[in-house]
Amino acid sequence: MIKLEFETAIFLYLLFSIFGFLAIWLVFSKIKTPTEHSTQLESIWQCFICTYIYVDSKHKKLSVCPRCKSFNEREFKGGGH
Ligand SMILES: [Zn+2]
Repeated sequence: MIKLEFETAIFLYLLFSIFGFLAIWLVFSKIKTPTEHSTQLESIWQCFICTYIYVDSKHKKLSVCPRCKSFNEREFKGGGH
C-alpha cells in the first residue's frame, strides 16, 4: 500500500512539474512578443546610392528607393556614427 502511494506521489510530482513548465513557457512567450513592437525607427530606410531617407515597412528585407529605384537591404542600420 505504501508503494502505491509513493508511485502516485511521483506521478503527481511529474504532472505538476510538466504543467509548471508549460505555464512558465506560456508566460515567457507572452511577455516576449510586445517588446519587439517598440522599434519604430527600423521602418526608416536610407538609400545606398543617393542617400535618400524614406519610410517603408520594417518587415521587408528588401526595399526600393522611391527616388532612384535601387534596392536596399535590411542589413544596413541607419544612425551609425
Ligand atoms: Zn536612392
